[in-house]
Amino acid sequence: MKIPLFSRANKEATDPVCHMTVNPDKPNGGSWGYEGNLYYFCAPGCKIAFQKDPESYLSGEKKIEM
Ligand SMILES: [Zn+2]
Repeated sequence: MKIPLFSRANKEATDPVCHMTVNPDKPNGGSWGYEGNLYYFCAPGCKIAFQKDPESYLSGEKKIEM
């Protein structure tokens, strides 16, 4: 039986604001639950931006370039 070498690679989340990859074990910007989903952030600024207007980021209308 083969054990995939990169099975740990699945353990990542995407910041909904800047679309950076975030480690959900220790997200620099923390996490925030919205509409039953938990979102992770690369920096506190992204979390604040998302909390102000989550729908615009989820729909792709808004995006912050880092
Ligand atoms: Zn971010």
